[in-house]
Amino acid sequence: MKEIEVDEVYNMEDLREKYEVVIGLEVHAQLKTKSKIFAPDSTEFGNEQNTQISPITLGMPGVLPVLNKECVNMGILLGLALNCEIPSRCKFDRKQYFYPDLPKGYQISQYDEPICVNGYINVKGKRIGITRAHLEEDAGKLVHVGAAGINGATYSLVDLNRAGTPLLEIVSEPDMRSSEEARNYMEELRNIVRYLGVCDGNLEEGSMRCDANISIMPKGSKEFGTRAEIKNVNSFSALQRAIEYEIDRQIEIVEEGGKVVQETRLWDDNLRETRSMRGKEDAHDYRYFPEPDLMPLEISREWVEEIRAKMPELPEAKRQRYMSLGLSEYDASVIVEQMPLALFFDRVLELGGNAKTAVNFIMGEIAAYLKENKLEITDTKLTPENLVELIQLIEKGTISNNIGKQILVEDMITKGEKASAIVERKGLSQISDEGAIKEIVQKIISAHPAEVESYKNGKTNLIGFFVGQVMKETKGRANPKTVNELIRQELDS
Ligand code: ADP
Ligand code: MG
Repeated sequence: MKEIEVDEVYNMEDLREKYEVVIGLEVHAQLKTKSKIFAPDSTEFGNEQNTQISPITLGMPGVLPVLNKECVNMGILLGLALNCEIPSRCKFDRKQYFYPDLPKGYQISQYDEPICVNGYINVKGKRIGITRAHLEEDAGKLVHVGAAGINGATYSLVDLNRAGTPLLEIVSEPDMRSSEEARNYMEELRNIVRYLGVCDGNLEEGSMRCDANISIMPKGSKEFGTRAEIKNVNSFSALQRAIEYEIDRQIEIVEEGGKVVQETRLWDDNLRETRSMRGKEDAHDYRYFPEPDLMPLEISREWVEEIRAKMPELPEAKRQRYMSLGLSEYDASVIVEQMPLALFFDRVLELGGNAKTAVNFIMGEIAAYLKENKLEITDTKLTPENLVELIQLIEKGTISNNIGKQILVEDMITKGEKASAIVERKGLSQISDEGAIKEIVQKIISAHPAEVESYKNGKTNLIGFFVGQVMKETKGRANPKTVNELIRQELDS
């Protein structure tokens, strides 16, 4: 018997109107420290399995964890960027559970006294609350060997290189109301960690991971529904798809008179569905208790202020600054999204390059080139200094804008040559000398008597034709304004 698709039975669009969606995200950011949070092993990615495993990482009897100060520094910095309070005291707790890739049988995390509390960020004009952010250690990795993937595997191997890598888990308030808002929030978090330099923010590689909590309730209701937690989303588009799928699944259950159960579900991006992984534990299942091997951590106000003083410009401030320079919201956002491009642009501004001209090149020729070749600006030979020189040549009228575009793509990006050197080598400087242009104008006019006749009989838009001919003759080097004026003078005399 063929299963009937949900959409065939329900009109999902109408049903969506009846419900309000509530979403809260738990985001794990891997902190970019050199060594682990409680052990001296390197956190480097991609080395041979089980080569970064000191006795502490292995949880051998008698070893003691030692807190890595850099993790705390990064935790404070990120917390401040998320407008959190940094309490003067926090502590670590043991969270007990069994996993083959967790040798100790517990994870050191923070439970009721985390390092950051009560924050928020603004995402496209909406404030999303941050309940807390806490430090914890990552687990190792299971490698499933055998046939295709988890289900077909015949046995699994354990790689503990990742065990003990520092994480900051950022827990949002249930403030998001659509998959799009959730995605925007996640993207902004990624921007923030990247600008702070505390995390790579790479979802595909797992240096940033997200669990999405989703529930639905009848529109207008004040009481939230039961949430399901979705794990295993490793791209922004997968996050959005998983949430959309989960909303429909929950609506269907409720419409049929059923109840959503609190559980953890796994997103399968190939099958495009979630499936139940386990019933959701409550906090008491983990039997949290204060970590006896670590002292509570006192964070002085001087320490916090020292770190606040190092805060770089955050993405939101950068966008606002770009917009105040005359960039559209779209252009400002696109540039901020790509940190290397934003840093490049900032340097151009510092060197006195005109913002608007620079943006036209960056969003036009440069963006197209980077996209086509799948490169970052820093992978090319173009320097901010050279772009500024190009802009100034155009401003001085030495070359036209079109010539500028042409040499930017042909020579500057790929070869790193200076604009002035290219102009010199190729003889591209603009002809602004009236006498020289006048000669060419006269030549073109006498070569096209029929068009001159039509022009004189009222077809004045033929002016464009004459300008085009002169530009062609001069290979685009004539000053267009002068050409226009001279042609009118000649034809109207
Ligand atoms: P747990 O570790 O049990 O998942 P946390 O407190 O760490 O609990 O995280 C709970 C997350 O779920 C938060 O991001 C919160 O905003 C979100 N959340 C809580 N209640 C709901 C709900 N009814 N619907 C959607 N999200 C919710
Ligand atoms: Mg959770």
